Amino acid sequence: MVGLDGTFYQVKDDGIAYHVDDSIKTPFALVTFFEADNTILLHESLNYTQLEQYLDGLLPREDIIYAFEIEGTFDYIKTRSVPKQDKPYPPFSEVVENETIFEFHDISGTIVGFWFPDYMEGVNALGYHFHFITEDRMAGGHLLNCQLQNVIIEIDYTYEFYMILPESDGLYDADLS
Ligand SMILES: [Zn+2]
Repeated sequence: MVGLDGTFYQVKDDGIAYHVDDSIKTPFALVTFFEADNTILLHESLNYTQLEQYLDGLLPREDIIYAFEIEGTFDYIKTRSVPKQDKPYPPFSEVVENETIFEFHDISGTIVGFWFPDYMEGVNALGYHFHFITEDRMAGGHLLNCQLQNVIIEIDYTYEFYMILPESDGLYDADLS
């Protein structure tokens, strides 16, 4: 799922970004009202690993959450999606064995994502986690790799976190290890 500017998209394993209707439920979502605290025009060319290192240098402290919007035309983007799962739900490590990979070249769009501090392990994925949506909102996915240059990076310093747990019993019966 990708949410951007108040609209939500589901990138299914056919690679197509479907508009998510307000009535559709999801097992997990991480959202914020994005307000940029820092805006950087990135000139140098970076791959995914280098992007993480570059962003590391921009984060003023390691004990808060950060949200990101990275917008522009990307030299290369590699994303994935996974197929719909049925009960009994397998561990995610098994689900990703059936992932579908998508590659884009010279593609305009937006990378959105978060960085979570170490002490929030178990609540969310630690470190960086990014999703991508194309400018025409037709495709995207979970970001695996990229090559980017001359893009705008916006960072939202986030000091507040609010968690809603499901009232159904599925979560509490699950093996969360
Ligand atoms: Zn993801």
